[in-house]
Amino acid sequence: MNERAEAERHDELARLRAELEHLRLLANTVPVAIAYYEAEGRTCRMANRRYAEMFGFDEQNIIGRTLEEIIGPEAAANIEPYRHRVIEQRTAAAYEREVRGADGITRIVEVRLLPHVQPDGESVGAFVLISDITHHRRAEAALRESEERLAKFMHASEEGIVFHKGGYITDVNPPLLNLLGYTMPEMLGRLTLEFIAPEAQQKVADVIAAAPETRYDSVALHKDGTRIPVEFIVRTMQHQGQTQRLTIVRDIRDRLAAEQRIQHLAHHDALTGLPNRAAFVERLERRMAEARASGESLALMFIDLDHFKRINDSLGHAVGDALLRTVAARITEALRMGDMVARFGGDEFLVLLAPRAGSSVVAEVAARLLAAVAEPMPASGVTISVTPSIGVALFPQDGATSSELIQHADQAMYRAKSGGRARMRFFEPGMAEATLAGLALESRLALAVRQDEFVLHFQPQVALARAGRGGATVLGVEALVRWAHPQRGLVQPDEFVPLAETRRLILPIGTWVLQQAIAAAVRWRAAGLGCGGEHERALPVAVNLSAVQFQTAGFVDMVAETLRAAGAEGSMLELEVPERALAAEPADVHDALARLRGMGVRITVDDFGTGTTPLARVKSLPLDRLKVDRGFVAGLPHDAGSVAIARAIVQMGHGLELQVVAEGVETPAQRDAVQAMGCDAMQGFLVARPMPEPELVDWLRRHAGSPPR
Ligand code: C2E
Ligand code: CA
Ligand code: CA
Repeated sequence: MNERAEAERHDELARLRAELEHLRLLANTVPVAIAYYEAEGRTCRMANRRYAEMFGFDEQNIIGRTLEEIIGPEAAANIEPYRHRVIEQRTAAAYEREVRGADGITRIVEVRLLPHVQPDGESVGAFVLISDITHHRRAEAALRESEERLAKFMHASEEGIVFHKGGYITDVNPPLLNLLGYTMPEMLGRLTLEFIAPEAQQKVADVIAAAPETRYDSVALHKDGTRIPVEFIVRTMQHQGQTQRLTIVRDIRDRLAAEQRIQHLAHHDALTGLPNRAAFVERLERRMAEARASGESLALMFIDLDHFKRINDSLGHAVGDALLRTVAARITEALRMGDMVARFGGDEFLVLLAPRAGSSVVAEVAARLLAAVAEPMPASGVTISVTPSIGVALFPQDGATSSELIQHADQAMYRAKSGGRARMRFFEPGMAEATLAGLALESRLALAVRQDEFVLHFQPQVALARAGRGGATVLGVEALVRWAHPQRGLVQPDEFVPLAETRRLILPIGTWVLQQAIAAAVRWRAAGLGCGGEHERALPVAVNLSAVQFQTAGFVDMVAETLRAAGAEGSMLELEVPERALAAEPADVHDALARLRGMGVRITVDDFGTGTTPLARVKSLPLDRLKVDRGFVAGLPHDAGSVAIARAIVQMGHGLELQVVAEGVETPAQRDAVQAMGCDAMQGFLVARPMPEPELVDWLRRHAGSPPR
């Protein structure tokens, strides 16, 4: 029996042990540190592993130790009020404190003290439950910090920020209030859509509904109704403990202005501010489509400045740029509403005239442009004048596409140049081939200079005043250059002289002409062909000069040397200077002319009336003769304008004691007209065409002493 009792007790003990083991397991598994302290002596009676280890003990050696021993005297003193309350008042207490654990890590813990009260009401001890709330507290602190950061950010941001929930505004920052002109109370609680321009509201509503994280451009409304282009950057965020939508509102008026500037730069020429080629072509095509639909016609002008390169090279790019700006302004000014102008590149401009009646209107505009551009302009101390050459192509007849139209206007411009510059030409079918031929010539011209492919023709000039009284008094002979092109035959100077001028090839050509002309005059003298009634004086030869030649340093010396080398006198030479060449530096021109005249060389102003030389300037120069441009003679005797101009030139020339020569006289009526006006001499097909030297010699022999036809 004893044995049995012994066995039962053993079993009972085993069961208790197992139960205890379970409790211990449980105590060690829960994420809480647990201990039990006796009220008497404050000694630890039980602790789970977590508790023991927290203070550097294990479950066994912690038993029987006092509170002071376990948590340290300082901490024990700190929690004394709680302990006291639990034991004396038998109520639970809870507090938070920081525990620096045996592992050296400081944790934030929440401590709960529960009184152990006997049925008789005596409190015999206290349970201690400690949970680690470090993580929790840190998260809270982080949240608090982030809220603070957000608040700071909202206030520091220069951009507007608005929080909203379900489209209702919950928070805004001062910059947004500034941007929209509202106060905080005026915005809070209102719908975001109330601050959006009507046409932008749908998009905003869609974004609010779909709640994506996105960015888009919109238009906000200022309190005063001003529309403000903005960019919205939308994010979902935690704010004030709730999931909210944060929208950054960025004022993009500056950005849009910058974009517009970039647009402008991309479409405009930086120098003149005019639209550039690309922008022009775009608009041209739009206008062409409109005109096609309405049946209206358009006129496209291609404007190129004459000799611009020379100005640019000699006076510098700054002057060239200033000139281009002035020209751009003048062209713009001369046009009307609806006309378009662009800088095509370099010294080229394009003008599209708004649909208007007839080519006479186009000619009128061209005349206005020619005059406006040619107006002298001051540039770094000097006054310069630049003429434009204008080519016109009409839509629809001259081209179906923008490029064709521009190309044809360009070709017409090219012809205006070769026609003597400073004029307008309409496009004509066939110009294309001529222009291509011109281009081919250009590359061939340099070779022609080296291969000496030029020949001179000569055209006589006769006196008019005495023409009625018997013999045709031959006064001189004009040398006119031709290019004996191996394939194309004789090429007229109008086709290659302007080209040669742009390439400065005119210098060697001009020198050659001068030498050959003087050599011919020397031959005629030797052959006894003179001028004047008795052929007592040597027949002078007139040589045409280009402005480039005339303005080249050493030109006068070259002439003197050529005369000397040929054994000719100065009186055997006449130089024809185009009126336009007189526009150069007054002092230089005057000096050169005076030296030439000093050698006995005669100076004639050629093509007089086509330039814009002021009368005072003509007066001041040492000259002998004026040649009325053949364009005016062509209009005689019926065109009133030509009559008036020709008469004025004659009177003016005589007033300056200059001889006046009429060139291009083709008909007896023209001869009579120029004679009646008082011209001193004439030249033209009526008298003789330009001819090779042997024919000229025949002609001189035959006509000396016989009356002109
Ligand atoms: P320009 O100096 O005005 O020369 C007169 C032009 O009128 C010549 O044309 C001549 O053939 C032409 N002509 C003469 N009589 C008549 C007429 O009754 N009716 C018409 N319709 N025309 C007439 P060309 O030979 O074709 O020369 C054209 C221009 O080329 C000249 O105009 C001149 O500016 C230039 N040129 C000719 N030779 C030279 C030269 O050696 N050097 C330079 N720099 N230029 C030259
Ligand atoms: Ca001439
Ligand atoms: Ca002439």
